[in-house]
Amino acid sequence: AKNRTPLMAGNWKMNLDHHEATHTVQKLAWTLKDAKHDFNAVEVVVCPPFTDLRSVQTLVDSDKLEIGYGAQDISAHAKGAYTGEISAAMLAKLGVGYAVVGHSERRQYHAEDDALVGAKAKAALAADIIPIVCVGEGLEIRQAGEQVAYTLAQVDGAFDGISEQDAARSVIAYEPVWAIGTGEVATPEDAQEVCGAIRGRLAELYSAEVADAVRVLYGGSVKSGNVATIMAQPDVDGALVGGASLDPTEFAAIARYQS
Ligand code: PEP
Repeated sequence: AKNRTPLMAGNWKMNLDHHEATHTVQKLAWTLKDAKHDFNAVEVVVCPPFTDLRSVQTLVDSDKLEIGYGAQDISAHAKGAYTGEISAAMLAKLGVGYAVVGHSERRQYHAEDDALVGAKAKAALAADIIPIVCVGEGLEIRQAGEQVAYTLAQVDGAFDGISEQDAARSVIAYEPVWAIGTGEVATPEDAQEVCGAIRGRLAELYSAEVADAVRVLYGGSVKSGNVATIMAQPDVDGALVGGASLDPTEFAAIARYQS
């Protein structure tokens, strides 16, 4: 939408080992190359598990692929005694361009709150990694009609203390929890309602320039068959794709939604 470059980001979650990751990225690259995909017109990013990142980096570098890659999480800490965590500096060293922060599965299974999500976003930004900040309501909130207020409170919490300059290069993914992995996709109007409200809140928190610059993605059961109508919404600038991103042909078709 507008002058923002659409971003299609695939969240593989805990799927694909490093051999499978290499095959998947190769197939994705070939499919997009065959279709003469313009990566400047629609950016394509995959977010594999941490253990795959080095293999993906090697492939992307050696074949000069235009596919970007990101992490699914990042530590809020810079270094030290944090067993099991992966720092922003480690990820930057692997050429990682993006980090998903605050995915609903991390909020649910790892008790991540908005303060931690914000700290992770700050850690990413400090290493020049773009955070994809995930927000979105659960089913009960949706049924109560409180999805906008709920989601905007998450935006307020995650962006607390983030500078205007850093906010402008961040990405926000609106992912209604009831639509993730359920096959239940939000209507284009549902997606627009909340994505538009998020942009409005960015204008209030920062400026019209920041609101104009930030890419707001929709996520939740996006497939090649439903992506175009969602992308037609003025405040939707891309998609965060889970299940469908594991199939390179399908994910390529999602990235090619305009054709
Ligand atoms: C996600 O996990 O971010 C997601 C949107 O999953 P799915 O596309 O499978 O609903």
